[in-house]
Amino acid sequence: MRISSRVSSIEPSPIRKLMDRVGSMKDVLGLHVGEPDFDTPIIVKEAAKKALDEGATHYTFAAGIPELRKAIAEKLLRENSVKADPEDEITVTVGGYGALFSAIQALVDIGDEVLIPEPAWPAYRGFVRLAGGIPVPVPLRPPEYELDIGDIEDRITEKTKMIIINTPNNPVGSVYPIDTLTSIAKLASEKQIYLLSDEVYERIVFDGVSHFSPASIGDAREYTISIYSFSKTYAMTGWRIGYVVASRSVTKAIRVVHSYMASCVSPAVQIAALTALREAEDYVKFMVNKYRERRDIAYDLLLDIPNVDCVKPKGTFYLFPDFSRIESSSMKLSEKLLEEAKVATVPGIAFGEAGEGHLRISVATSSETIVEAIDRIRRIILN
Ligand code: PLP
Repeated sequence: MRISSRVSSIEPSPIRKLMDRVGSMKDVLGLHVGEPDFDTPIIVKEAAKKALDEGATHYTFAAGIPELRKAIAEKLLRENSVKADPEDEITVTVGGYGALFSAIQALVDIGDEVLIPEPAWPAYRGFVRLAGGIPVPVPLRPPEYELDIGDIEDRITEKTKMIIINTPNNPVGSVYPIDTLTSIAKLASEKQIYLLSDEVYERIVFDGVSHFSPASIGDAREYTISIYSFSKTYAMTGWRIGYVVASRSVTKAIRVVHSYMASCVSPAVQIAALTALREAEDYVKFMVNKYRERRDIAYDLLLDIPNVDCVKPKGTFYLFPDFSRIESSSMKLSEKLLEEAKVATVPGIAFGEAGEGHLRISVATSSETIVEAIDRIRRIILN
């Protein structure tokens, strides 16, 4: 069997591997999960059932059903200050994954370099390699993990095709301020580099912090590709629906890739997503409030462990505490916690070198689990 060199060059996602392992263990407290613990809102599920009963069982337009794209355009204007034409600038995709895969395949050529500020969600590296591109890590600056524009500038070469940014950020929980986004948008335009902006956690922000979409800044819309998803916002990870917003010419290319990959998203799922956009706002607020409460609980408990440092996240449902004064290898520490305390966490190294010494702790689980799990971590560390 000869596997293609593109595929042999990539490792399966370390988070997936961990999930499979934890799934086969008993009585583990999971602080590793990357998805809402809440169920999809009932009205959304009902809408899908009704749609199926009414015959929504066929292929749709490759770009997504027009009513959904229209509702997305209205949402983009209202919430992101982004003006996009539903006809030829918005594409409904198989989750954020489908959006990222299609956009990267559409734009990255063999040998192109893609700058990825790290710590970063590990899948970006895989998407870039699958397209034959070269991921170039740009270390974010601890402890707040701010993006320094000079660090990006230093790594730009004539082969740089794209910069990937992720705000609110998985795993560090930061939310990029508008000044940073403005500088990066300006740099991308000057250097003629695409800006891929992954905003799948856009609604999960706390303490009055605002999420900004770089596509809303000046003329950045032309070379920015914005990625959104229903997964985290509406607790719809298993439904597999998201969307991508880009210029006309880029959208055309994205649609070619996505239609070869998936043809279209299931129509009942698209109708469910339309209902989520129109009718699930209260549920979103409820969930975000819960994540904030749990973040506060986890933050206080982590800071109470001697020699652990933690920045209070402004968004997402992750914390990224620094355990390097206790154990420099995040892999070793995560293993020890899993084996001895039966607590699952994601080692920071999974997000690149810049994440070493940290663990990603998810609060997409009950407060009771968070309290018990962090208490177990504390006891192991004090031992
Ligand atoms: N982007 C980031 C930063 C993520 O963490 C994830 C999922 O964990 C995704 C994109 C893709 O999510 P989905 O395909 O469920 O929309």
